[in-house]
Amino acid sequence: MDRRIRNLTYDELKSIVKTFDWSNQAIKKIKLAINACDNIVLEKDKRFRFWQTIYAVLWENNEAVDMGFKAYTKKYFYERLEAIQYHNKNCNSYCKVCEILDRWNNERKESRIYRECVVV
Ligand SMILES: [Zn+2]
Repeated sequence: MDRRIRNLTYDELKSIVKTFDWSNQAIKKIKLAINACDNIVLEKDKRFRFWQTIYAVLWENNEAVDMGFKAYTKKYFYERLEAIQYHNKNCNSYCKVCEILDRWNNERKESRIYRECVVV
């Protein structure tokens, strides 16, 4: 199976990134990036813009810095994506994963759009 990290869609990247533990500062940066990316028309431009932010915030993750960002994202991003996909198929109550994803859905109105993207 070809699991190249660059094949991840923007929506997949958004849900993956949400499952990691970030500092408040990083969360702020990621939210700004999501707002910007949601308004970009072309999928490849969305991905490019979002990856810039992912790489910027990964500097606060020691394991990612040690492994190198390419190796780190390759190792963990598909793993997280599979967990999210499994969750979306099987979750029928408000679980831990729902809670983690929900942390990002605050009062901002664009988060409503985001929620629709996550729960496919
Ligand atoms: Zn759930």
